[in-house]
Amino acid sequence: PVTAAAPRVARSTAEYRVLDAAHHLHPFSDMGTLNRTGSRVITRAEGVYLWDSEGHKIIDGMAGLWCVNVGHARKELAEAAYRQMLELPFYNTFFKTTHPPVIELSALLAEVTPPGFNHFFYCNSGSEGNDTVLRIVYQYWLVKGQPSKKYVISRTNGYHGSTIAGASLGGMGYMHEQMPSKVEHIVHIDQPYWYGNGGDLSPEAFSLNCARQLEAKILELGAENVAAFIGEPFQGAGGVIFPASTYWPEIERICRKYDILLCADEVIGGFGRTGEWFSHEYFGFQPDLLTMAKGLTSGYVPMGAVGLQDHVAAAIIENGEFNHGLTYSGHPVAAAVAVANLRLLREGGIVERVKTDIGPYFQKTLRAALADSPLVGDIAGTGLVAGIQLAQYKGDAQGLGRQRFANGGEVGTICRDFCFENDLVMRATGDRMLLSPPFVITHEEVDELVGKARRAIDLTAQRIGT
Ligand code: PMP
Repeated sequence: PVTAAAPRVARSTAEYRVLDAAHHLHPFSDMGTLNRTGSRVITRAEGVYLWDSEGHKIIDGMAGLWCVNVGHARKELAEAAYRQMLELPFYNTFFKTTHPPVIELSALLAEVTPPGFNHFFYCNSGSEGNDTVLRIVYQYWLVKGQPSKKYVISRTNGYHGSTIAGASLGGMGYMHEQMPSKVEHIVHIDQPYWYGNGGDLSPEAFSLNCARQLEAKILELGAENVAAFIGEPFQGAGGVIFPASTYWPEIERICRKYDILLCADEVIGGFGRTGEWFSHEYFGFQPDLLTMAKGLTSGYVPMGAVGLQDHVAAAIIENGEFNHGLTYSGHPVAAAVAVANLRLLREGGIVERVKTDIGPYFQKTLRAALADSPLVGDIAGTGLVAGIQLAQYKGDAQGLGRQRFANGGEVGTICRDFCFENDLVMRATGDRMLLSPPFVITHEEVDELVGKARRAIDLTAQRIGT
């Protein structure tokens, strides 16, 4: 039950802001501007709600950063961490050593991931997960006697993290601009963003064309030089971009034809967001490697993992030392929390509920509420994830003649600010508004979330005079 108790605050908001501005650098932020206005201080959370230091109750339409899937303040997870900290707070998994939580987690992951994923390597984040994917891919081809297979192909506007390798794999130009060099042998093809780039093609034809860019790129580089393709089954940070149904089967066909490893970055899509345990199951393809993080622990503690299909694992296992690892690979507290989280998701029927009940209800309610908004050009998504495209002109019934705003991002920012003022967390990527609420959201809370989203979009329409 959600209680509206006052937040436990030790300092005034003003004091927090002064200290925050004096000593804390925020990720992906313009610190000068932020320090002049001051951050919102979140002090407490429960279920789908957050409270700030001013006592505002805010509905969390983003599950933190797409991660708090079982909802905030679950005792089951807190207790798992507490028990584990008392029993064995830390031990490493290097040097011929292991421990029960990491063993239990690995066995459980083999059950909840699709067939053929039976081995898991651990890290602390999605970025490290994708670094790990690169290390595994290179080692795989070395072992296979094909060391020339070095190129990894990913997509523009994809997001794979903020380590140097993660940012290099990602296709975010604004991140690349701040790096003097990137990890070598990473090249990009276009993202399957129909609303923006599909022109007069149908979504299916456009997605197929985008997938075929992979084949063209492989032929340009020479298949003997290409190691892997990596992509988010649906792009999250890039704007919740869902490719048409033609996309992934074609990508899979091309990877198999040219003997290229297919890597699915499931950092956002994993553990039930689409109603399937993994979003590649929703799109109907079978990757060789899986990157996981966020939903693995519902964000309660940091943890990432990489799943390896049996043929990939065999190459890593039978060929001497794999020279990669992190102090906290398989951290016992993180592993204990992940086990508790996965049990809740499975035995509590939480993932099943996303598929059969709350996911369909969310999609239906959102689409009905926004159907007549002049500002909404398109809604992408399934389960509990949605990307709402704000557009200058939505186009005809097929979306032909659709037109985005010329000043990309400005309208999204206005809308995001209205959300902020109205105690709703809805993220903006350019002019796409993103929602990804906790899985435990009730029908009434969906109504509240959608109502607030509609209001923010209406206020935006008024402001810009649509
Ligand atoms: N991959 C994807 C698809 C992501 O969305 C993210 C984070 N949003 C990452 C990787 C990086 O994860 P982290 O921030 O935990 O390093």
